[in-house]
Amino acid sequence: MSIAPSALPISMRRIEKRFGSVAVLRDLNLDVAAGEFLTLLGPSGSGKTTLLMILAGFVRANAGSIKVGGDEIITTPPHRRNIGMVFQNYALFPHMNVFHNIAFPLKQRGVGAAETAERVEKALDLVKLKGLGERRVDQLSGGQRQRVALARAIVFEPRIVLMDEPLSALDKGLREHMQIELRALHRRLGMMTTVYVTHDQREAITMSDRIAVMNAGRIEQLDRPETLYATPRTRFVAGFIGESN
Ligand code: ADP
Repeated sequence: MSIAPSALPISMRRIEKRFGSVAVLRDLNLDVAAGEFLTLLGPSGSGKTTLLMILAGFVRANAGSIKVGGDEIITTPPHRRNIGMVFQNYALFPHMNVFHNIAFPLKQRGVGAAETAERVEKALDLVKLKGLGERRVDQLSGGQRQRVALARAIVFEPRIVLMDEPLSALDKGLREHMQIELRALHRRLGMMTTVYVTHDQREAITMSDRIAVMNAGRIEQLDRPETLYATPRTRFVAGFIGESN
């Protein structure tokens, strides 16, 4: 695997998160290698989204440390973390056109008009939406919206990309096609460190360098897909990996 010089590792240590009196993440440790495509896989309610939101900075952990390339970011606000995020519902602005949706993070960062135009063009090209900049988002298909959300996440060339069930709204055929495209995009972007969330075992096995299986706020096992499949360490992992949807 060739790792881009800009890809950075992530190291999360002793992360705790409670909502009220409910512990959602318990003493959680996670290392993601530079350039890796790592998936958080687990049933609904196991804490995957919360973990991703803590990495992105939208949710504050009660305790713990997050280092990216050695720098502590646990108190850094989201827009200064240099992390791109694709949300489950895409969170696009439906009344705005494709160009302005993708340009949004650049505007937030004070990038000038000429550079913005250039970067948006490049992002549109990468997600295969060339020529659709003027189209309103509410006139796009589900798959096209998904690509706009992806372009917006990568347009400012973040060091890390986080994706929360980005394909769950698509039908099966398109979902399988986009799985292949996402992996190809990961390669084209020079192996940007990626943390991907899904509850779909098959999707995780198809796409990931490694999979962290989550259960009730803990990581039960973190391994390569074939290792998880061949040598599950707990009954939960064996049952969950063995299930097919
Ligand atoms: P997953 O992504 O694996 O489905 P989540 O991280 O969304 O899991 O949720 C983990 C647990 O935390 C669930 O029990 C959920 O109800 C709870 N939870 C998540 N967000 C909040 C919140 N803002 N307030 C209270 N409880 C929450």
